[in-house]
Amino acid sequence: MKTWEIYAIRHATNDTRTRGVNFISDPDPMKPLVLDFFCWVLRCGREVIVVDTGIDPETGAKNGHRQIMPPPEGWTALGIDPAQVTTVLLTHAHYDHLGYLDALPKARFYMQAEEMAYVTGPWMEKPTFRHAYKADEIARLVHLLHDGRLHLHGREFDVADGISAHWVGGHCAGQEVLRIRTQRGWVVLASDALHYYEEFERGIPFTVAFNISDMMAAHDRIRELADSDNHVLPAHDPRLLNHYPAISPEMEGRILRLDPVPEIGA
Ligand SMILES: [Zn+2]
Repeated sequence: MKTWEIYAIRHATNDTRTRGVNFISDPDPMKPLVLDFFCWVLRCGREVIVVDTGIDPETGAKNGHRQIMPPPEGWTALGIDPAQVTTVLLTHAHYDHLGYLDALPKARFYMQAEEMAYVTGPWMEKPTFRHAYKADEIARLVHLLHDGRLHLHGREFDVADGISAHWVGGHCAGQEVLRIRTQRGWVVLASDALHYYEEFERGIPFTVAFNISDMMAAHDRIRELADSDNHVLPAHDPRLLNHYPAISPEMEGRILRLDPVPEIGA
């Protein structure tokens, strides 16, 4: 039975946001709340799986996000040659998860079929649903599909021994979470099914939503899939920096290792 290491690359941050931007009816809406941006690498010996590919820096800057580290630099720092990566999981197609696709020339990409139907279908007529997608990145996905480099899978998908993808929807039509076997048991990488731990802890939705009932049901699904609440990883929470170690002093605030037991209470 394989166990996987999980690494997070903190590639961008936005310290201009407030709680009111992130949580509906927050009692303290003007209080600042940093939004960090992570993408991930799963590793078992020489086997490497990339999960999401960060933000194109121009798109990030346009949206007020400051780049910390281009993901390809993060991959290299982890000893990975981007030209040799063969498997990339896309948890959904929002622009902050879909930059740098072309930095991975040999990769085959995997995504929920429902996400592709969503981003190329009638819901995109509505600005509220399309605003976190970038048309040229979606067009790039269409090209990858026609080149045989994008596999669109069903709701439940076995990626590898010890890794499975599970549809939850909510944040967008095809949002998925990943269940990963690690040295300490089953961890759920929730991606944007949870932006912050707080959504999970307080049972509240995030503001960017396609379907709030699916978003809330995702919390229950995550609890079914993870060994405990302590085995759950949100996608955008600066608290991750307090709970998990950097891979080296030089990579402090940039690359974290997420499979050890978290230091909760920090
Ligand atoms: Zn995101």
